[in-house]
Amino acid sequence: MLEIIPVPAFKDNYIWLLHQHGHAVVVDPGDAQPVLETLSALGLQLNAILVTHHHMDHIGGVEELIHATPARAFAPEKEQYPFPHQPVVAGDRLDFAEPALSLSVLEVPGHTLGHVAYCGSGMLFCGDTLFGAGCGRLFEGTPEQMYTSLQQLTELPADTKVYCAHEYTEHNLEFALSLEPGHVALLARQQATSALRAKGLPSLPSSLALELATNPFLRCHEPGVIAASGSATPDPVNVFTAIREMRNHF
Ligand SMILES: [Zn+2]
Repeated sequence: MLEIIPVPAFKDNYIWLLHQHGHAVVVDPGDAQPVLETLSALGLQLNAILVTHHHMDHIGGVEELIHATPARAFAPEKEQYPFPHQPVVAGDRLDFAEPALSLSVLEVPGHTLGHVAYCGSGMLFCGDTLFGAGCGRLFEGTPEQMYTSLQQLTELPADTKVYCAHEYTEHNLEFALSLEPGHVALLARQQATSALRAKGLPSLPSSLALELATNPFLRCHEPGVIAASGSATPDPVNVFTAIREMRNHF
């Protein structure tokens, strides 16, 4: 049985660690120390490091982990990295024997231009593209690129578990409720999320079905979101652009 655990790092990052039979893979290790501590505590060998994009809070621990473990790193071909890695592009399939895992690479530009996501076996590791009830900031890409990337993710099976790289869900839900006040699914999610966070538990993974029901950035076609966006037209890219800008100042 494959186990997936969040290794907390910095203020609100999650480094997702997948393990089975003593072998592990990590996604976006911004810091090596908490990963090494977890590997040691659970008696795991690290075999692979998956990187979604080039921001330091996602790659800061890679170099040290490569030196301290047998792990190989995988990172987007369209970005520059200071450590040895196998470049990945859309459509690549990564097959690991231990832990037994098969993941496909999706290119999801927007937060950064080379950003990738890894998906397979009912899981999605989306870095800073999709968040619980939110999405990443547009540091490098255009709103249209990010909108298209998010739409690509919505084509995955609805029961796909969504493993985001930050714990931003509570604040995102407040913003979502400012756009769709009284939306029942949102209120239910806010209640469930608050209960988890009050116990110090992660609000993640989420599911694609839950994001489709509550994430305003996947709901740019909904009348309530269109109206709240103030967009002059109901064009979903215009609506997305407007609410992404609103979220920047929320
Ligand atoms: Zn980032």
